[in-house]
Amino acid sequence: MRQCLFCDNSANTREDIWPKWMVDRLRPSRVRGFIGGDQVRTHGPYVKSLCVCNTCNNGWMSDLERANVPLIGCLMQDLVLSLDPSQKSAISLWAVKTTMTFASVNRRKHNGWFTRDERHQLRCLSLLPTLTFVWLGRFGGTGVIGSTSHTIKYEMSTGGIAHGYACTFLAGRLLLQVFTLHSPGSDEQNQRIAIPLIDGDWERFLVQIYPATSTTIQWPPQDSISGIDSLASRFSMGTEKPIPPRAKP
Ligand SMILES: [Zn+2]
Repeated sequence: MRQCLFCDNSANTREDIWPKWMVDRLRPSRVRGFIGGDQVRTHGPYVKSLCVCNTCNNGWMSDLERANVPLIGCLMQDLVLSLDPSQKSAISLWAVKTTMTFASVNRRKHNGWFTRDERHQLRCLSLLPTLTFVWLGRFGGTGVIGSTSHTIKYEMSTGGIAHGYACTFLAGRLLLQVFTLHSPGSDEQNQRIAIPLIDGDWERFLVQIYPATSTTIQWPPQDSISGIDSLASRFSMGTEKPIPPRAKP
């Protein structure tokens, strides 16, 4: 039997890949993209995966969902609000948990991508994997749920290959993007990594919420993103692209 993604119990309950409250609220006319590399156009929005145990599903995962419903609900419906550091942190934790469940749907392809330690530490310590980044953006359209994910390989200038996983998902007016890098570098080298991106005016459209800063941000941002695809593939520079170290400040 499959093991729970987040603990050592057996996976004995089916997790809603897109939260039911979100689907009920948006009533999407269509679902687009991929979950964990599998195209979802053949599925309705109510997708379930046997990937977690009852204790996790009805315990910390349910608490995390409940804490985020008012926040993410406002963001996806384009309501005006401010996000303080603790709210940014709650959304980041939810976004990475959701990315891990998406990645688990296609285990045959990359075995869930995230390591057991990364998943367990998220549950036990609310700790996100090292070299994880989370951004929010505002989608110009509406009424859509979707996701797409990419795995990317980079050649490190300090030697070895780093593996990246990018997951971008869309819920109404909200775009969420998570990127995690598994790097062979030392801690000191990793602190200086600058993730290569396809050229774009990303800072105009996106707000980085993790790693967290102490600032409170205002929502919605001034500019919207009209297409998920260019955003979703902005890390895909081609395989084994060198990562240059960032200059020391
Ligand atoms: Zn569990």
